[in-house]
Amino acid sequence: MSRLSNSTLLIATHNPGKLREYRALLADLPVRVVALDEAGIHTEVAETGDTFTTNAMLKAQGYAALSGLWTWADDSGLEVDALGGRPGVHSARYGGPGLSDRARYAALLAELAPFDRATWTARFRCVVALATPDGRVFTVDDTVEGVITDEPRGEHGFGYDPIFYLPDHSATMAELPPAVKNTISHRAKAARRAKELLRALLAEDA
Ligand code: IMP
Repeated sequence: MSRLSNSTLLIATHNPGKLREYRALLADLPVRVVALDEAGIHTEVAETGDTFTTNAMLKAQGYAALSGLWTWADDSGLEVDALGGRPGVHSARYGGPGLSDRARYAALLAELAPFDRATWTARFRCVVALATPDGRVFTVDDTVEGVITDEPRGEHGFGYDPIFYLPDHSATMAELPPAVKNTISHRAKAARRAKELLRALLAEDA
C-alpha cells in the first residue's frame, strides 16, 4: 500500500508557485507529483505546533493519513536573534492578521529598533517532512543566514525578503533575481536534502 516507486507523491500546498518549483526539482524521480487540490483534499490540517519541525510533521502525517499517499510538507519562516528567534512559526501572521508584507516587516523593524545592531542577525529556516501512509515520518532542515536591515530594498520575492540582507551577496533577498534566490534559499536547500532522502527511500522501496 505504501510503495512509492512509480507512484504518487502529494505535495501539501495550495501555492501554485511552490508546486511548480517542487515539481521541477523532483522531475527526475519516478514519482507523479500532485497538489492537495489535485488529490481532492479540501480539509485543512492545522499548524498548531511551536516549531517548524512539528508543523511540517503535522501537515505531512495529517495529509498522508487523509490521502493514503506519500506526502511532502514544508514549514518555514524568519528567526531573528535579538527577538529570541521570533517571529519563527508565527512569521506569516506576525504583527496581526490582515497586514500587508510591508506593514508586517515594518512592525518587526519597530520591535527591533531598541536592540543593538550586532544582534540583528537572522536566518530563514525551512523544514521539509516526508510522511508515509503507514505513519512513518522523516524530516530535513536547512537555513540561509543574514542580517536584518532597516533600509528595505528590492522588488522580488515576498514576505520579509526586502529586510533580509545577505552579506555574501551584498544584497537583500528581494534584490536577488528569483533564479538565484531559488538556488540559495532555505527552501531550496531543504528541498534538495529532502529530494536525496526521497531518492534513498525509493531505493529501499524498489
Ligand atoms: P510558509 O512556510 O511558506 O507558509 O511561510 C511562512 C511565512 O514565513 C511566510 O508567510 C513569510 O512571512 C515567511 N517566509 C517564509 N519563507 C520566506 C521567504 O523566502 N522570504 C520571505 N519570507 C518568507
